[in-house]
Amino acid sequence: MTQHLKHFIEGALTDSSDDGRLDLINPVDEQVYATAASGTAQDVDRAVAAAHAQLYGGAWSKLNGNHRAALLNNLAGLVERDLEILADMDARAIGRSRMEPRMMDVPNAVSHLRAAAGWANQLEGRTIPTGGYMGVRTLSYTVREPVGVVAAIVPWNAPLMITTWKLAALLAAGCTVVIKPSEETPQSALHLAALCQEAGFPDGVVNVVMGLGEVVGRALCEHPKVAKISFTGSPEAGAAIQRIAAPLFKRVTLELGGKSPQIVFDDARFDDAVRGCAMGLFINQGQVCAAGSRILVQKGIASKFSAALAQAAKSVSVGDPSQEGVQMGPVAKKAQYERVNRYIRQGLEEGAELLAGGVSNTTKGWFVRPTIFGGANNRMSIAREEIFGPVGTVIEFETEEEAIALANDSAYGLAATVWTGSLERAHKVAGAMRVGAVGVNCWSPLDANLPWGGLKTSGIGREGGLPGALAYTEEKVITVLLP
Ligand code: NAD
Repeated sequence: MTQHLKHFIEGALTDSSDDGRLDLINPVDEQVYATAASGTAQDVDRAVAAAHAQLYGGAWSKLNGNHRAALLNNLAGLVERDLEILADMDARAIGRSRMEPRMMDVPNAVSHLRAAAGWANQLEGRTIPTGGYMGVRTLSYTVREPVGVVAAIVPWNAPLMITTWKLAALLAAGCTVVIKPSEETPQSALHLAALCQEAGFPDGVVNVVMGLGEVVGRALCEHPKVAKISFTGSPEAGAAIQRIAAPLFKRVTLELGGKSPQIVFDDARFDDAVRGCAMGLFINQGQVCAAGSRILVQKGIASKFSAALAQAAKSVSVGDPSQEGVQMGPVAKKAQYERVNRYIRQGLEEGAELLAGGVSNTTKGWFVRPTIFGGANNRMSIAREEIFGPVGTVIEFETEEEAIALANDSAYGLAATVWTGSLERAHKVAGAMRVGAVGVNCWSPLDANLPWGGLKTSGIGREGGLPGALAYTEEKVITVLLP
């Protein structure tokens, strides 16, 4: 019998108020492997009420930073214990090789929880000297209070990791949450919520309501008792959320898309740059917000580099990622398969040269071949728009200034990578990038203590580190009349 997933509201598994369901489809064989409750505004209201009650007067509101740190450490241990289960859930949900969540996503989630345990006691206020009050002396100080009930809205490309980034920081800050996972990949968020219960978080602190963005996501954003929306996803949905949030004065953090440049200078270590660019482009089938999909290469090495990158693309074995030796699975969903192929066709129509891969035409499973375009320019749609698939566009440049101008000529500003053997050039170019994170001869690490977020269309705000937890607080000033 097909497994059926239910919402997690106030510590209990519950179906939707209207019994609505969504199919979860395996991208490898296109078979339905489970169904998930598809929530309603009524379900959202119940979950928000539970979260609100815990925050204002419930058991959670009585816990201090030490208690929250202990619970976060408990949770980290349980996520570590269930590493294989969680990695399998996320791998199956989007058809990626289970090695990636095993080696990266789950350990990263654990380190965010452990780091957040350390932040729980560092959300300090200040004592501020003032001029007093109408001739009398006063003492003013500030305290950091939880911002309120948070709506954590999550995409499908790295479900556990992105959910945990939000969860760790907001729990450290003392908030409560309703998580809205992607409609395609809710399973690991549900498991995480069950682990929160096992770790000792009071019921109602962490809730999960599954379903459609337009229904559950919207109801959360509109809910009067939701104080902050922490969203990761597409710029289109981010803009829709901003429109809802603005007149309601809700706090918003947006982690959106990217079209990140990888700049390869002719003084770079050639083989390392090829390998690094291929990894930055193809990991998770290119379904990564910071995917280095715009590869800017200096003229002298451009044809040799393009050929080597194309060769690297051709050597990737694509297929069922559960099979031995397969490096790349399908893209996560049918809409994504159609989107990636549409962009590949568009690249060909715009006159870019196909060096590897191309339009896919599979009979079963949403497989796309790793694709490299050469002879491209920065005006083409394959250079400007986020494809979110294994497609790279190589563009030539001559000078450092031209490379900087091309890299910054984008609506996005999430990440960039610089490949060079010159220390001076590395610092100069890294400093000139209008992005949130730059990697020099490496990929920008997604470390729990580093801020992560973008400029321009890539979003608003940062996650990670102590500032990431402070973003879930409000600073309140208290003034006391002194004798
Ligand atoms: P998406 O915007 O379609 O969906 C993301 C989430 O928002 C889902 O849970 C969805 O149900 C919900 N949603 C959709 N419309 C909504 C609405 N109107 N109101 C409220 N909620 C709504 O994005 P996706 O296809 O799931 O993910 C891919 C996108 O996410 C890419 O653009 C990618 O770059 C971005 N992303 C960014 C980061 C980052 O850290 N910057 C990380 C991962 C993914």
